[in-house]
Amino acid sequence: MVSRNSRAEKIYDMIVLGAGPAGLTAAIYGGRALMSTLVIEPKMVGGEITLTDRLDNYPGFPEGIGGFEFGLLLEKQASRFGAEMVSIDVQAIEPLGEVKKVITSTGVYSGRTLVIATGTTPRTLGVPGEEAFSGRGISFCATCDAPFFRQKRAAVIGGGDAAVEEALYLSRFAEKVLLIHRRDTLRAVSSLRGKLMENPKVSFVGNTVVKEFKGDQKLETIILQKVTDNSIEEVNVDGAFLYIGRLPSSGFVEGVEKDSQGYIITNEEMETSLPGIFAAGDIRRKLLRQVVTAASDGAVAATMALRYIENPASPVTGKSGS
Ligand code: NAP
Repeated sequence: MVSRNSRAEKIYDMIVLGAGPAGLTAAIYGGRALMSTLVIEPKMVGGEITLTDRLDNYPGFPEGIGGFEFGLLLEKQASRFGAEMVSIDVQAIEPLGEVKKVITSTGVYSGRTLVIATGTTPRTLGVPGEEAFSGRGISFCATCDAPFFRQKRAAVIGGGDAAVEEALYLSRFAEKVLLIHRRDTLRAVSSLRGKLMENPKVSFVGNTVVKEFKGDQKLETIILQKVTDNSIEEVNVDGAFLYIGRLPSSGFVEGVEKDSQGYIITNEEMETSLPGIFAAGDIRRKLLRQVVTAASDGAVAATMALRYIENPASPVTGKSGS
């Protein structure tokens, strides 16, 4: 049971929910502006980027940088400017009023402003065997598990940037990688598509959907169906990696305007529909979900949070719709 008063004494200037690039950049800007800042993150500090082998398109790293290393650097920088960090699960927020409450599994935290930067989680297919073999052959992180696939056969499901990038990474280890996509055209950017087509270890299996994952103790085969003629094929694999898009981690956020998929709607100042509540990074409704845009959102959110604290009646607060 939640103890409602256990953390009630301290009121932070800014509480940041999520320690990915958006949340940690908000913390860097908040701390540097001398706002008392708390970052709450239940999982890995650094966020999803820490699971990426290489961050290749962030300005200032001409040779790229490892995702894990990048996450550690962000954490170090936020700590240098005084941001506190706790590792706990957020259950709900109470976003109304001058002091906003964050209800967690170990108590309630209070802040004058909140920055919601909780990002997204992987989408699942919802087919038989998917749940049973998750962690037993089905994985959502090629970067974590690829080294187990030396000289083995792996399937990657999806057709976006993530699926193609991870299929390419897996091909460094695996003997064969099947990239299974429901259409005959990949959604991924042309540079990644080009690399994929040139890679002799990766075979593109288009117009194909996964009907079932099968095995005994671990995943052994996938049942595939061609969408063009409904023909069924059972394919042997040692593992399957799902990259079919992401869902916003916004279920705990109530009272703030979201779109039909659950992404939080903000304006360009990262303001949500409620005063003093900001959103940053992949959790926002936006066009380009990249580390660089997440960092930019975080910087704007913290700057606007400071402005809100200095002048809560500012006419720009509480507007939404980007
Ligand atoms: P995404 O771009 O939304 O692609 C999801 C893919 O999964 C699509 O090809 C989609 O098929 C397929 N899919 C969705 N639901 C499916 C289902 N039920 N069954 C089978 N297939 C399904 O997601 P993402 O690749 O995870 O990328 C997310 C965001 O991160 C994007 O903005 C992307 O640009 C960015 N990202 C960037 C990089 C990079 O810049 N290096 C790397 C990774 C991710 P359809 O194509 O038919 O819709």
